[in-house]
Amino acid sequence: MSTRQKVTLVLSGLFITFFIAMIIIISLNFRDFGVKSAEKRAMLTAEVVKSGLTAHMVNGIMDKRHYFIDQIENIENISALWIARSPTVIKQYGEGFNSEIARDEIDKRVLSSGKIEKEMTETATKSTMRMTIPFTASAFGAANCLSCHDAKEGEVLGTISMVIDISDVRGSSFTTVGYTAILILLIMFAVLLVVNKFLKPYVNIFYSIRDVMLAAYNGNYSGRVDGGDLSESKAVAQMLNSLLEKLQKVFDEIDKKVYIFVQNKNKEISHDPLVNINDTIDKLSEIYKFKQTIEHDENLEDIYDRLAYVFINKFKIEDFSIIEADTHSGIKKVVYSVNGCHCDLVDGQCRADRINSIVDSTIFDNTCSKFNKPDLQYLCIPYSISNELNLIISVVTQDKEESYRVRNLIGLIEDYIATAQPAIVSKKLMQILNKMARVDQLTGMFNRKYLDEFAETAIPQALRSKTPYGVLMIDIDFFKMINDTYGHDIGDEAIRIVSRVIKEAIRSSDVPIRFGGEEFIVLLHNCDKAHIKDVAEKIRTNFAKQVISAGSETFTKTLSVGAVMFPDDSESIWKCIKYADISLYHAKEHGRNQVVCFEQSLIKNEEMKNSF
Ligand code: GH3
Ligand code: MG
Ligand code: MG
Repeated sequence: MSTRQKVTLVLSGLFITFFIAMIIIISLNFRDFGVKSAEKRAMLTAEVVKSGLTAHMVNGIMDKRHYFIDQIENIENISALWIARSPTVIKQYGEGFNSEIARDEIDKRVLSSGKIEKEMTETATKSTMRMTIPFTASAFGAANCLSCHDAKEGEVLGTISMVIDISDVRGSSFTTVGYTAILILLIMFAVLLVVNKFLKPYVNIFYSIRDVMLAAYNGNYSGRVDGGDLSESKAVAQMLNSLLEKLQKVFDEIDKKVYIFVQNKNKEISHDPLVNINDTIDKLSEIYKFKQTIEHDENLEDIYDRLAYVFINKFKIEDFSIIEADTHSGIKKVVYSVNGCHCDLVDGQCRADRINSIVDSTIFDNTCSKFNKPDLQYLCIPYSISNELNLIISVVTQDKEESYRVRNLIGLIEDYIATAQPAIVSKKLMQILNKMARVDQLTGMFNRKYLDEFAETAIPQALRSKTPYGVLMIDIDFFKMINDTYGHDIGDEAIRIVSRVIKEAIRSSDVPIRFGGEEFIVLLHNCDKAHIKDVAEKIRTNFAKQVISAGSETFTKTLSVGAVMFPDDSESIWKCIKYADISLYHAKEHGRNQVVCFEQSLIKNEEMKNSF
């Protein structure tokens, strides 16, 4: 129920209560007035009758009294009038003309009690009052009753009863009530009209404010309050409307400004700018925290782990791989994977990377021939990190619905990749610099710095796990001559050829190191005595077969190798290297182009030599 209806109802209720109270009061007052005036009339009539009867008695014409009584009875509104004698009077004078005896119980009671009695009779059409008044004997007054009556002072001599019609009073009461009712109804109507007229604009503005505020609460700030015609409500409406206008403008602007920072193209447009702002700030805050964290990560793997954490915990992506693609070499490397990469990347092909756009199996089945799980869906998204590096996020889903969900997250994933991009680039650069610091530029082999680190980290581990290493020290025979004869560049070429021959002869787990000049160390992983000799011989013989060109001329060269077993020959890698050097020296001493495996006797020979 509206406020206006409530006010009208309350006012109507009050008026009706007032109306009923008025009618009751008026009716009671009129009745009381009618009864009292009838009583007065009866008393007066009784007095007249008493005086008249006394006069008749004094004048000795008591036998003519019925004319007098009839006259009185004919007075307006007196319906009946009779008198009754007391037993004392009847005894003295008889029942009198028309048998003036007690007609009913009331007459008898008044005759015996001497007290006035009255009785009201109400019918639908008529209201009457019966009143019986006693006449008492008195020696005092206009006539001395005791002079004629055998009665005592104060004794009841008779009664006069009359029935007075008071219907006219009731009629007047009804008329008055009617007029009053009409008057009250008119006043009530007028009051309601006035109240309604004054209340309506205020109630209207309240409704308008309520509707506009409800819309604003639900994010729609475009509603405006209708101020109506009253100056006060107009002012309130104006103030609220300018506030709403300001809110709408500011929220829209904040929404746009904040949204710029998030590159999420799949923004969920809510009609409430506050919800959008809150959502964007939430995302910004998450991304900022992510940025802060990865800035302190030590290496690239940590950053990929962090990205993976976001994918798993925030985006609820269960199966995915992060793949690095080298734009120059085309080499792909899986740097993170939840369930292993489901792509055949061996030949270096990746469709998403090649076409530089999203590859989505939900759009076209079997889009990528490299994906090897036909029952699953995939969504591969390429991101360009730098000129040298692309990242491919390959998400694998169980069904198309999950793929659609992930597709809606692409914008957010992009936000995170873009945030991680500077850190990835810098870490990648560091990786390259680190690698460069440990790799020899001429041969692409590791350098001495790497050997130092390897000796410090991997060798103690190998010792603990009892993993043997074969240590080869390789030196080109009469290398100086190449430089002297053909120049430094040809010398460099010879060094490159040795390094190639070495790499071809070893496994990927072995560690080739350019130890200095044309000297190489090779650490053969998990190697035994027979194998070390084989590898060394292979290197020696293969190199001897290499034909080196120097302009129009060609020549061949040989090399010598010293071979040591770690930890059999020594548990110190540096000692092993020293022993390899001794063995190499021995090979040089004994005609070069040969492999010499270390023996303890070689140290003795060396010591003896040094003693001379
Ligand atoms: P040996 O059979 O006893 O080993 O005789 P060798 O001539 O090879 O003697 P040695 O090992 O002492 O010679 C090393 C020479 O290698 C000396 C140096 O000029 C040269 N050299 C060192 N580093 C490089 C390099 O990077 N490039 C070239 N071209 N020459 C280098
Ligand atoms: Mg040499
Ligand atoms: Mg040398």
